[in-house]
Amino acid sequence: MKRRQFIRSTSLGAAAGTVLAGCGGQSSDAPAVQSSTPTLRWRLASSFARSLDTIYGAAEVMSARVSQLTDGRFTIRVYPAGEVVPAFEVLDSVQKGTVQMGHSAGYYYIGKNPAFAFETTIPFGLTARQYNSWVYEGGGQEILRELFADYGVLNYPGGNTGAQMGGWFNREINSLLDLNGLSMRIPGLGGRVMDQLGVTVQQIPGGEIYPALERGAIDAAEWVGPYDDEKLGFNQVASYYYYPGWWEPSANLSFFVNRQSMQGLPSAYQAALEVAMAEANQYMLTRYDALNPPAFRRILDSDVALRSFPKDVMDAAYTMSQDLLEQERSNPGFARVYDSFLAWRRDSDEWIHTAEYEMLSYMNSQRKSV
Ligand code: CA
Repeated sequence: MKRRQFIRSTSLGAAAGTVLAGCGGQSSDAPAVQSSTPTLRWRLASSFARSLDTIYGAAEVMSARVSQLTDGRFTIRVYPAGEVVPAFEVLDSVQKGTVQMGHSAGYYYIGKNPAFAFETTIPFGLTARQYNSWVYEGGGQEILRELFADYGVLNYPGGNTGAQMGGWFNREINSLLDLNGLSMRIPGLGGRVMDQLGVTVQQIPGGEIYPALERGAIDAAEWVGPYDDEKLGFNQVASYYYYPGWWEPSANLSFFVNRQSMQGLPSAYQAALEVAMAEANQYMLTRYDALNPPAFRRILDSDVALRSFPKDVMDAAYTMSQDLLEQERSNPGFARVYDSFLAWRRDSDEWIHTAEYEMLSYMNSQRKSV
């Protein structure tokens, strides 16, 4: 009888422990099993507006998957830009632990360290596929992680936009001279190159570009590409749509995780989070690749004039980009990541330009001849 009672009370105890864990209880005499499946609620600050279902949505895809993989015990609430943290202060907030993680772009923080540009992209840099291969297979992740270690932050790929457009202009750019005095929203090292080309560069979060363009506070703006740009309404307030976005042959977004918060997670939760972030990384690029073509067609069918940048603009931008990147070599951290990046691009370009680019180039000539 005593033995039966003992078994019953033990079972009840275990059941109570499960309930406690499910309700977020942190009882000090909790069974050991609780420590591997605690109920945890994290906050994620995004740099992006909720209306952008691709770029903002990747964080929600990640969050939903983490919850699913942990039977709802580990939940991450996603906050849009400005709700708990301003768009360009996400990294700082993760560093301080105000939020456990963020979703942002490394190149928003080049004021802290210019090498953070490589976390997102550099002008005339890598395509999305090249970037992912460098990060996952080419040592890019390790070398970038050293940059963020000083901030107590772990960085993970968090989605890629693919190649971007050159943005929206309220007047035609017929030569390099037309850039002089132009006021443009453009972040990262691309902004610094534009500054050298005579542009007045503005840093404006994605969700605030439209009013600035509409009221004439800026003459031009770049964001991502047709789907997002149409969603933000740029086609209603600017007449010329330029390509290519030479400053962003792709753009990697990042999940930033407070290192101490990550280390405090049970290993199964760490794995769930890493798997979910990798899924979100793929999700964003495939979404953009699916949504951009029809949006591009709609824009082509509208009054907007599609233009390519003149060759003197492209050549000056290329030369200025190389000069600027070389100047930054005085920063040892920058030189280390740049060398890794360049070596990867050299080998990758040789292969991809031979096999895939030649095929695409031929198919493009057929398409244009139809
Ligand atoms: Ca952009």
